[in-house]
Amino acid sequence: MLCLAVLKPIATKNLTDDASGFHSALRSWFIQNGKDYPWRRTHDPYAILVSEVMLQQTRLAVVLGKGYYERFMEIFPDLETLASSSEDELLRVWEGLGYYRRARMLHATARAVVEQHAGVFPIEEKELLALPGIGRYTVGALRSFAFDLPTPLVDGNVMRVFARLFNDSTPVDSSEGIKKNWQRAEILLDQKHPRLYNSAFMELGQTFCKVGLPDCLSCPVAAFCQSSDPQSLPVKVGKVVITQLEELSIFARQESKVLLAMEQGTRRRGLWRLPERTSEEILSADLLYEATYAITRYRVAMRVHVANEKTARLGEQWVEETELESFPMSAPYRKALRHLLA
Ligand code: SF4
Repeated sequence: MLCLAVLKPIATKNLTDDASGFHSALRSWFIQNGKDYPWRRTHDPYAILVSEVMLQQTRLAVVLGKGYYERFMEIFPDLETLASSSEDELLRVWEGLGYYRRARMLHATARAVVEQHAGVFPIEEKELLALPGIGRYTVGALRSFAFDLPTPLVDGNVMRVFARLFNDSTPVDSSEGIKKNWQRAEILLDQKHPRLYNSAFMELGQTFCKVGLPDCLSCPVAAFCQSSDPQSLPVKVGKVVITQLEELSIFARQESKVLLAMEQGTRRRGLWRLPERTSEEILSADLLYEATYAITRYRVAMRVHVANEKTARLGEQWVEETELESFPMSAPYRKALRHLLA
């Protein structure tokens, strides 16, 4: 097996003693090379919040490359529009991004800002933290990116860069690791240029100090980096155990209508799907479609069988084929349905 070793310059500067040298190296690089994202062209806290929520569990290439961010901002250009929209409309626009809880939280945040703050985002940390769905990271993002106020932020990206810069093998997902990294973020923060510094730090982690093989030879802050084996960092204690699941559904059609069911449980509340059946109920039914998909720590085997059912059960509904696209649905079911109708 080919093993790629990282070529890394030896540190010549001390990060703790020369924080301003670190700020200036990072700032010079970012001013010249920082990427031009739509949320970096604005100070509107709403537009920044939308980008942060979308990017929480979805890659940048999907959020921007597939036009999700632009489309969302076109349909819901401001807080008031989002706050007054229905959950159905919102979920339909969010469709394909997954993790629908994020969309519902964004909706709740918009409504809370409109109802409790007359539609104006508060700037105080305490007030921001009291909003639904806003945690410490998002407070840092909103205050620094929208209001240019010195506020630290730490996410997985930042933790990885800190572990390498300080050559620290404390597990980043331990309480000690989390505490240390928030303290570092606070101490190292560039008080004069918080928006620029936090943006640059995040981009450092996406561009050079990436997951896996970092690009240390091109890194603008390599002179401050203590790690001798950056690939081995960060260390984590928790290992994600993947659980296999099976989802059995039916495709029932009656003239120009298809049977749909409302999703059960909180994760996909408000979405629709093909109706679920037990293995006994579809024992002798032909298999029409199968696919696998991953969601959080689950790997799901999805199987859809043909059905001649004529009666909708509780929570199920016959829907005209021409109206199917207006029913919000998770991406795996949308794909299955389009395939079955084609
Ligand atoms: S910060 Fe990351 S990319 Fe830069 S030198 Fe250190 S390990 Fe390499």
